[in-house]
Amino acid sequence: MKDHIESILLDQDDIREICKRLGNQIDEDYQNKNPMLVGLLKGCVPFIGDLGKYITIPIEMEYMDVSSYHGAKSSLEVKILKDLDSPVKGRHVLIAEDIVDTGFTLTKVIQLLKYRGAASVEVVTLLNKEEGRLTKMVPKYIGQEIPNRFVVGYGLDYNQKYRNLPYVGILKQEIYE
Ligand code: 5GP
Repeated sequence: MKDHIESILLDQDDIREICKRLGNQIDEDYQNKNPMLVGLLKGCVPFIGDLGKYITIPIEMEYMDVSSYHGAKSSLEVKILKDLDSPVKGRHVLIAEDIVDTGFTLTKVIQLLKYRGAASVEVVTLLNKEEGRLTKMVPKYIGQEIPNRFVVGYGLDYNQKYRNLPYVGILKQEIYE
C-alpha cells in the first residue's frame, strides 16, 4: 500500500503528540462535566482510541454512523445508520472526527444533538481542511491543519481501503483518477 502514497503528512510520533496535546486540553476544559465523547464511524476509530488514552477525566464513549446525501431541493441530508445508545439531553457532547472538510456532515449532526437537548456540542478533529470549508463549522479542537488534498490512513479510507495504515498520507492522484 505504501507505493500508493505520495507523501506522509503525519507519522505515528506526530499523531501521538497531537493526541497528548488534545487530551490535555480536553482534561482542562471538561473537568467535572462528565463529557460524552461521540465518535463518528468508521473513520474515527484509531483516533478516538488513541485520544482516549490521554484523557484522564471520566468520559463516556459513544459511536454514531451517519451518511450524507443530497435530498430533495438539493439540500444536504444526513441519514443515521447507527444512532447513539444513550440520550444526550443535558450532556456535554464532544464529537470526535477524523477530518473536517466542507463541514456539512458535522453541521447536521451538531444540529441534531442540540435539538435533542445536549448541554453543549463541540468537535475534536484530528485533521482540518480549512480550504474545503463550505459552512460556518469551526472545530474547537484541531490536531493538524492540512492542505486541500485527498488523504488516507489512520482511519481515513478510499473505497474502504487504507484505513489500517498507521500514518496519514496523501493518496497518489493516479489511484483515484
Ligand atoms: P465534510 O462533511 O466535512 O465535507 O465531510 C467530512 C467527511 O468527508 C470525513 O469524515 C471523511 O469521511 C470525508 N473526507 C473529507 N476529506 C477527506 C480526505 O481527504 N480523505 C478521506 N479519506 N476522506 C475525506
